[in-house]
Amino acid sequence: MSAEIIDGRAIAEAVRRGVAAGVAAWVAEGNEPPGLATVLVGDDPASAVYVGGKQKATQEVGMRGYDHRLPADVPQAEVEALLGELNADQRVSGILLQLPTPPHIDGSRLTRLVDAAKDVDGLTPVSAGLLSKGLPGLRPCTPSGCIELLDRHGVELQGADAVVVGRSDLVGKPLAQMLLARHATVTICHSRTRDLPDVCRRADVLVAAVGRARMVQGDWVKRGATVIDVGMNRTDDGLAGDVDFAAAAERAALITPVPRGVGPMTIAMLLRNTLEAARARAAAPAR
Ligand code: NAP
Repeated sequence: MSAEIIDGRAIAEAVRRGVAAGVAAWVAEGNEPPGLATVLVGDDPASAVYVGGKQKATQEVGMRGYDHRLPADVPQAEVEALLGELNADQRVSGILLQLPTPPHIDGSRLTRLVDAAKDVDGLTPVSAGLLSKGLPGLRPCTPSGCIELLDRHGVELQGADAVVVGRSDLVGKPLAQMLLARHATVTICHSRTRDLPDVCRRADVLVAAVGRARMVQGDWVKRGATVIDVGMNRTDDGLAGDVDFAAAAERAALITPVPRGVGPMTIAMLLRNTLEAARARAAAPAR
C-alpha cells in the first residue's frame, strides 16, 4: 500500500475539541449554551443508536440536548406541532429530524417545516437553495465532513478534477456543489452514467457515495488521486465502504478507510453547525 490514510476519527476529535472550546467561549461571553433538539419517530433500533450518539456528543461539547422520541403511530399533525414548538423555542439552536420516518409519516414534508436558521442537518429546501446560490447557510453534515478531511490534508481543490459518484440530496449533490464552490471541476455520476470506471480515472479527487460495497475498483483510481469513501455497507465480513480499499490504496496518494474515515465526521460537523446556528441567530435581528 502506498497511500497515506486519512484518519477521520482523529480529525473528528479535533473538530469536536474546537467546538467544545467555541461553546465554552460563547458561554463565557454570557450566552446560553447552544441547544440541539433531536426528533425521533418510531422505534427503529439503528435510528435510536444514531440519535443516542448525537445526544451524547452534544453533552460532551457543553451544549444542551433536547431528546424528543415519539411513538411509531404518532399522527403527522403531532410531529408537525412539535417542530413548530421547537422552531419557536429560544433555547433550541438546532433541530435534527432523524430520517427515515415510519411509512405513514411524510418525512419530506416535516423536513420542509424546520426553520432554516435551525436546520443543522442542512437538508431543508431553503438550505439547499442557499448552498446552490453560494450564500451563507447551514450545510449538510456528511459532505461538510468530506470537505473538512480534504482541507485538513491540504488537498488542492481549485482547478482539480473532482468526480462524485452518487447524486443523493444527502451526500452526492451537496458535496458536488461544495466542491464547485471551491473551484473544482466537478463531474457527478449516478446509476445511468456511461463508462463509470473511465470517468473515475480522470479524478484528482474521487468521492464514492453510492451504497454498494467495494464497487469502485482499484484500477478506477488515477495514480496520486485522493479518494474519499462515504459508503457504509454492512457485509458478512463487517462494515465496508464503496471503494475496494486495498486495491485503491495501491494507486491513491490519500485515502479514507471505512470505518474511521468519513463516518466520524458527520456528528462532528453537526455539532459545529449547532454552534454556528446559535451564533448566527444571536447576530440576526430578533424575529
Ligand atoms: P442513496 O440515496 O441511495 O444514493 C446513492 C447514489 O448512488 C444514487 O445517486 C445512485 O444513482 C448512485 N448509484 C447507485 N448505484 C450506482 C451504480 N451502480 N453506479 C453509479 N452510481 C450508482 O445513498 P446516500 O444516502 O447518498 O448514501 C450513499 C452511501 O453513503 C451509503 O453507503 C450510505 O450508508 C453512506 N452514508 C454514510 C454517511 C456517513 O456518515 N459516513 C452518511 C450518509 C450516507 P441514481 O441517483 O441514479 O439512483
